[in-house]
Amino acid sequence: MALNLSEKTWLEKRLEMIQRYEEEEKRQDFINESEIWHILERKAHSEPSEVREVLAKARELKGLSPEDTAVLISIRDPELLEELFATAFWIKNQVYGNRIVLFAPLYVSSPCVNNCVYCGFRHTNEAVEKRTLTMEELAQEIRAITKVGHKRVLAVFGEHPDSDADYICRSLQTIYATKHGRDEIRRANVNAAPMTVEEFRAIKDMGIGTYQIFQETYHHETFRRMHPAGTLKHSYKWRLFALHRAQEAEIDDVAIGVLFGLFDWRFEVLGLLYHAIDLEREFGIGPHTISFPRLEPALNTPFTTGSPYLVSDEEIKKIIAILRCAVPYTGLILTARERPELRRELIRLGVSQTDAGSRIAVGGYSEMEKEHILDRQQFMINDTRSLDEFIYDLCQDGYIPSFCTAGYRAGRTGCHFMEFAKKGLVRNFCIPNAILTFKEYLLDYASPRTRELGNQVIEQYLQEVESRLPYIAAKVREYLKRMEEGERDLYV
Ligand code: SAM
Ligand code: SF4
Repeated sequence: MALNLSEKTWLEKRLEMIQRYEEEEKRQDFINESEIWHILERKAHSEPSEVREVLAKARELKGLSPEDTAVLISIRDPELLEELFATAFWIKNQVYGNRIVLFAPLYVSSPCVNNCVYCGFRHTNEAVEKRTLTMEELAQEIRAITKVGHKRVLAVFGEHPDSDADYICRSLQTIYATKHGRDEIRRANVNAAPMTVEEFRAIKDMGIGTYQIFQETYHHETFRRMHPAGTLKHSYKWRLFALHRAQEAEIDDVAIGVLFGLFDWRFEVLGLLYHAIDLEREFGIGPHTISFPRLEPALNTPFTTGSPYLVSDEEIKKIIAILRCAVPYTGLILTARERPELRRELIRLGVSQTDAGSRIAVGGYSEMEKEHILDRQQFMINDTRSLDEFIYDLCQDGYIPSFCTAGYRAGRTGCHFMEFAKKGLVRNFCIPNAILTFKEYLLDYASPRTRELGNQVIEQYLQEVESRLPYIAAKVREYLKRMEEGERDLYV
């Protein structure tokens, strides 16, 4: 289907603006492909002793250089691979403890002027029905999401005149304003196309949590092939520096990612690292989180199953463990794209956040009983367990789920978060806040079996906090009591 006149006019105006930006942007592209290939080749046959030296360095929790990361990328030997996994697991526990932050992805709009080869929402894909939620429909989605206990959403948008920066602002207002009894969203993160600094400022003013955008691939030629000429997403530079512009607009929690399956994963891992390094160099703070979605099948989208670079289960495990070692203080986000059994393994290796009870069709939460609505989705997901089932399974594996948004609301974002994380405080504050927000969930939303198991998990974690930080544990016990009596939203 061709673009209509208003879409065309909007697209042309934005293309002109992007072109001016490209001419004026002083920042240098920090993805030096020959350097990346050179590092990968030089370290491709690292000796076991060198691998072990790097793993020992990773345990110092200072992060790894691209060269050291390439040493880990070279691992093939099963014994060394196990050592890599053990190191990643150790780091995750040191920095984050066994808590997992939960959120709901919320697809707000799907019409898109772009034509990304891998995406079900691409403009020319007529097999998928596109929709932009009205504010009333969005409020209905929020009611369905908060009714089951979620407190955080990741709002996702297509790039289209009907879902421009102004629409994103209105959506954030609606998300925060939709409250019903104890049901409310306390943190809304956004995944949307790159914007100007002024547009980011407007979104910041609406109380955005994290701004997330994936480069998709750091390989220039592949990027241009995946995002055809004449579309807004064709500009590599506009996208590469989107998070720099967001930081200029004082959105200090920004999040990066790669869509694994478009190009060689080894190259992409170093691309992510260089992106993190450049943000840290310019703003003194790296990305808040990294995502590593794998390409999933989408309706009428043959590329998703035919790409020569699809990443295997073994490879995604390795990718997560390497990232955990390379950037120990950056959150790692896993999604419901992965199957339940595999998710369980991947979480062990360093994941700190994940979605649960997800429905990714636009308007999908209002039709919760339908696990998939393929002709309204961007791609397929493989885990459709309800939030309650997901939490039950997490508890059985010894994790404590968290709905905490205290860090954000107490100003522990950006640099402040990193300082905080580096002092080991994430564990000290996040576990108590996980306990408190999980208690809220158990009191207000859980099924009887999840409530029973969840209360045991809380007691176990509380005893652990007591042994290290008795004064905080006493405060948490007092808050738990107040919650039993009806108070909510208490945090340390
Ligand atoms: N339209 C905005 C953009 O492209 O920046 C918002 C993001 S899009 C709705 C969310 C993300 O989904 C994309 O950045 C891409 O990484 C991912 N995605 C697209 N097609 C996918 C597929 N077939 N399988 C898995 N993930 C996919
Ligand atoms: Fe549009 Fe984003 Fe899909 Fe590309 S990935 S077609 S920009 S929704």
